[in-house]
Amino acid sequence: MKIRDVRLTPLMTEAESISAGPGAALVEVETDEGITGIGEACIHSERGEAAIAAQKIVEIGFKPLLIGENPLDVQRLWLKLYSYCEWYGRGGVAIYALSGIDVALWDICGKALGVPVYTLLGGKFRDKIPVYASLLFDMDNPEDTAKEGKKYVIQGYKAVKYGWGKTRERAFGMNPDEDEEMIRTIREVLGPNIQIMVDVGRFVNLTPAQAIRLAKRLEKYDIFWLEEPLPPEDVTGYKMLSDSVDVYIAAGESEYSRQGFVEYITRRAVDIIQPDVTKAGGLTEAKKIADMCETWNLMMVPHGFSSVVNVAANLQLVASMPRAFILEYRRTPSPLISKLAKKPFTYEDGYLKIPSEPGLGIEIDYSVVEECSIKQ
Ligand SMILES: [Mg+2]
Repeated sequence: MKIRDVRLTPLMTEAESISAGPGAALVEVETDEGITGIGEACIHSERGEAAIAAQKIVEIGFKPLLIGENPLDVQRLWLKLYSYCEWYGRGGVAIYALSGIDVALWDICGKALGVPVYTLLGGKFRDKIPVYASLLFDMDNPEDTAKEGKKYVIQGYKAVKYGWGKTRERAFGMNPDEDEEMIRTIREVLGPNIQIMVDVGRFVNLTPAQAIRLAKRLEKYDIFWLEEPLPPEDVTGYKMLSDSVDVYIAAGESEYSRQGFVEYITRRAVDIIQPDVTKAGGLTEAKKIADMCETWNLMMVPHGFSSVVNVAANLQLVASMPRAFILEYRRTPSPLISKLAKKPFTYEDGYLKIPSEPGLGIEIDYSVVEECSIKQ
């Protein structure tokens, strides 16, 4: 089997806010045996420009390196592309694009061998995984924000995460009194038995001292984890924060490649490591990061807030992780979550079932790709 074409399609949707992930990039690797692998590069840029940059990298840079290659040689091809990233810098958009190709190669392997990807990752530990409803803060409307989460609690979700804010100007983490009122309202509306996660996100960069104070203020509302309150570069700050508060500290969606996680893991700077399969280097790299977390006895909860392809890749990964215990499930509305796959995932009482069809187990609806593709 040989690769005969590689494509990246930049996608953009109408979204309620810039933090709702309006963009994404669908990656396809086509073989000469009629199998096409599907992947995603998680690219949310507000005007689609990062996905267009990734498209150039894939179609001008990576494609000539892949044509004629055997798609089953996933790790060799990963290294071949990673070495070529020298010209782009070994991170950012280039490694997002590489992640998309890597996921597509794993999808091909599964389809060619007639097994789900988790079998190729070492086999499964579970058939289903608890998911948390992943939502956004509306800092102007604590009541509405809380009621949005309650909708999912009524559907059986046992955990809800809120993040960021609708705009750069009105984000969580800017005003401690408003932050506390927001979390107090959410706890009151969701009730005592629901896990609540708080994702400060990338509109705000707190110092360790500010984050410690915030975490301590929120402790009385029994927050399960506090995510990304510090700039991703401040690993020492994360270590200080984790050592100073009871609430779990989570981070990792802004890192890429296993090297990006080495310090976080080996210094035990956070409690929960959150690589994104479609940003950090694909399933190849995410599996290595998961193995590092297992070795250092840390929790890992993969990040995923873009499309159904991201969720599908995450489901295969968590199936193969010995101690995976929860997965992110974006519930802010987007056709990339609700319509891009022909068949929805099976959700039941707080769990997503892990697809057992060959490869990633999803089929793309190309009418949605057509509808959402950026016309250049
Ligand atoms: Mg986050």
